[in-house]
Order: sequence, then structure tokens, then C-alpha cells
Amino acid sequence: MNAPVKTAKLIKGATGDFEVIVGMEVHAQVTSKAKLFSGASAAFGGAPNAHVSLVDAAMPGMLPVINEECVRQAIRTGLGLEAKINLRSVFDRKNYFYPDLPQGYQISQYKSPVVGEGVVVVDMPDGEIVRVGIERLHLEQDAGKSLHDQHPSMSFVDLNRSGVALMEIVSRPDIRSSEEAKAFVAKLRTIMRYLGTCDGNMEEGSLRADVNVSVRRPGEPLGTRCEIKNVNSLRFIGQAIEVEARRQIGVIEDGGAIEQETRLFDPARGETRSMRNKEEAHDYRYFPDPDLLPLELDQAYVDALAAALPELPDAKKARFTADYGLSAYDADVLVGERESADFFESVVAADGRRRDPKAAANWVINELFGRLNKDGHSIAESPVSAAQLGAVLDLIADGTISGKIAKDLFEIVWSEGGDPRAIVEARGMKQVTDTGAIEAVVDEIVAKNPDKAAQAKDKPAMVGWFVGQVMKASGGKANPQAVNALLKAKLGIE
Ligand code: MN
Repeated sequence: MNAPVKTAKLIKGATGDFEVIVGMEVHAQVTSKAKLFSGASAAFGGAPNAHVSLVDAAMPGMLPVINEECVRQAIRTGLGLEAKINLRSVFDRKNYFYPDLPQGYQISQYKSPVVGEGVVVVDMPDGEIVRVGIERLHLEQDAGKSLHDQHPSMSFVDLNRSGVALMEIVSRPDIRSSEEAKAFVAKLRTIMRYLGTCDGNMEEGSLRADVNVSVRRPGEPLGTRCEIKNVNSLRFIGQAIEVEARRQIGVIEDGGAIEQETRLFDPARGETRSMRNKEEAHDYRYFPDPDLLPLELDQAYVDALAAALPELPDAKKARFTADYGLSAYDADVLVGERESADFFESVVAADGRRRDPKAAANWVINELFGRLNKDGHSIAESPVSAAQLGAVLDLIADGTISGKIAKDLFEIVWSEGGDPRAIVEARGMKQVTDTGAIEAVVDEIVAKNPDKAAQAKDKPAMVGWFVGQVMKASGGKANPQAVNALLKAKLGIE
């Protein structure tokens, strides 16, 4: 039943190899205007305690009312994870004290979550496909935030987040390396961003992961796990797994035993440290919340949501490779964000014509994304539109400009805007295909360099040097094929 262990993923200890086993609990903030059980705003930021209703502040006698939009978003996410939707689910009270959780308990789901088993398909850069099982997805409230740096002797509390809807997505322990863990969270994020159910903004805390890590020698039963709480970036998820696996291997190799506990990752020190012994579920004294009825759904409602889902990244990737003939790698890069995929398709299909998809993919991935990254822009902020990039591709395709000039043109459109074809006309950027004009330049260069011309007969590779000189003399505008052909004729090379 167990797949053979890939040796590349094993971690070398002093006494042999170890395998790392990772499972995740991802907390994703539901995209909705209001909180899970109150009408207060769920927007990020705002003055402290500006988004707090009497329900969120847990005033006596206040009753929670379920926000239908949050339920809809959780179901849509479940459908996007190919998961079972439970038509009946129950909200429970999870009892624990936090100073920033005024109810004294969190409303969550325990035995009957709204979403059951599903799967996330993760494509690794080496082409391996890792299927990470999803155990469940449930809805629960977020807590507020304690502020310890506002006053020398007091802590303040900001309840703006208190009661905001979270989806807790629990994976099976199917992850075998820090790279797979990062790719899993990235894929989950992409799916939710496609669905519009979570913005995936890790800096604002919209997506954070509790990472369960254990190690074992290959073939042995699962070891004891430690949970690293609230890791809030992909990089930190990777680092936390690496250092925690190393720590556990060290303990085992020294003859010790791993104790189940909750740990914190300290990125500055590059270590995890113990936070508390792990609670068991019974410590929370879960019981059904008497203020809320069980959540009952119609199959027809679920079916309607399923029918209205957008095309998701896996389906889009399959279509991009099949219909456009793109490589798996290119398709993966383009479907990473829905907006990028849409931009690419607009470049290919602008004004009713279909442009060469591979050329379009190349330009979008290498030139446009490269430029966007350099300036820290998202695709939505691109100064070059799909129509403008399409026009640049047309100019290359019809031989008006060379690929090299196209890069200069792209740069001009990026910084100044305008119609690419008009820019080429106005600035005299057209490729010179007039053989007579090119021939004059070729003759001049050859005449100036008789030694090299003589050598070129025996060393045909020398022609490259001549091509460079001619291109330079023509300001990059000579048609490279024409230059090559003319030079070979003039230099007497076959
Ligand atoms: Mn939780």
C-alpha cells in the first residue's frame, strides 16, 4: 500500500536515513463581507475594535446567527477540493481560554464538519504528481489579537478579527518533504483564489498553517508528531519542517523519544521551541453549541454551486497543454493565477485571430512576468495590455521587426504606452529586409576586415562575428537571416 520511498527525499542522519512525514491544518479566512455569526465587517485593518458587534464582544444574551455566504464559500471550496459535502453538519463549542476570545470558547465544527474527504493534486517541478488527501474542512471563528507593545505595563486587545470566518482544512499525512509541503499550500491557495473563497494573503494572515511533523526510518510505523503552530509564509513552512525534522532526528539518534507537543517556529533563530504539551481533543470539552441548529443543506443547492464553479487550475492546465500544445511547465506557470491564464488567452485570441500560443506563452512568461517581478507589479497592474503584447507578436510574426527589436519595443510600450505598430513606424524600428541595403553594410564590414574574412573560409564559425558586426552597424534592424545568407555568400562559406 505504501509507495516506495524516494531516496532523494530522505534526510541523512548520523545513523542512517530518515523519512519526514507532514500533515497540515491550514486556516483560510473566508472571503465575505461580514463575520461568521455577526454582521460586523470582516475587512482587514480598520481602527482597533472598529469591527466588533455585541456578538463578537460576547455580551451576555447575544446570539450567533450563521452567515449564509460563509457557508456557501465553504461548500464551494469543498467542491473545488473534489470533496464530499455533508448535507448535515453541526457547530460545536471548543472550550479554551484566550484573552482575545471573549466568549471563552470558539464556535467550530468537530464530529460533523461541513466538508468531508477530498484531494489536492500537487505538481512538483520534477514532474512528480503528489496527491495529498484532505480529511475535512470545517468552519470556525477566528480569535482577536492581543497587543503587548502599546503600553509598558498593560496589554491591549483588538477584537476586529474575533468572529471572522475561517475554513480549517486538514490534510492527511501524505506530504514527504518541505518542498511538497510548500507546493501543497501554494496549490491550495491557487484553488481558493480561483474560487474567490479566500484571498490567500499570507502577509495579512488570511492563510496560515499548523504543520504536523514526524520522522521515521523508512518502512517503520509513523513516529510521534509535533505540531508547529501558525506558520505564515511558504518560506517559513519549508524552514520550519527542515529544522523540526532535524531536531527530531537528533533526539532519536541520541536515544531519546519525541514527545507530542505544540511548538513555535522562530525564523530569526532558525529553530522551533516548545510552546505547550499537545492537548487532546477531550481537553477542549467539545459539545454542540445550543445556540445554533445543525446546518442542513439541500442537495439541489450544492449541485447548483457545483455547476457554477469556475474552471479550476488542473482543468485549465490540461486544456492549455492539449489545446495550445504548451509544455506542462509553461502551462503550470500560466495557470498559477487566474489573471495570468486569462491574460495569456487574451494575447492568443485578441481580435478574433489566434496567434501562435507558444510564442505568446514565451512572451508572457519570460518578458512580461520578468518585467512585472522586477517592478513588483501583479499582472492586474501590468502597464502592457494583452492587446499591446499581441500587437508586438504580430510585428514579429509578419517580419516587420526582429525578436531583438521586439524587446526594445516592449520596453518602450512598458514605460510610455502607445500602439506598438505606430511606435515602430514613428521611430524607424522596422527590420531592414531590403537585401541591397544590407549588402552594402556587409560589403563594408568584410572590406574592413580582410584578415578575418580570409580566416572565415577555414573557420566557418567566424561568420558569427561578422553577423554581430553587421547587426551592430544596422542598429539591430537588419534581418538576421538575410545577413547570414549574404555573409556566407560573400565569405565563400557553404
Ligand atoms: Mn482551528
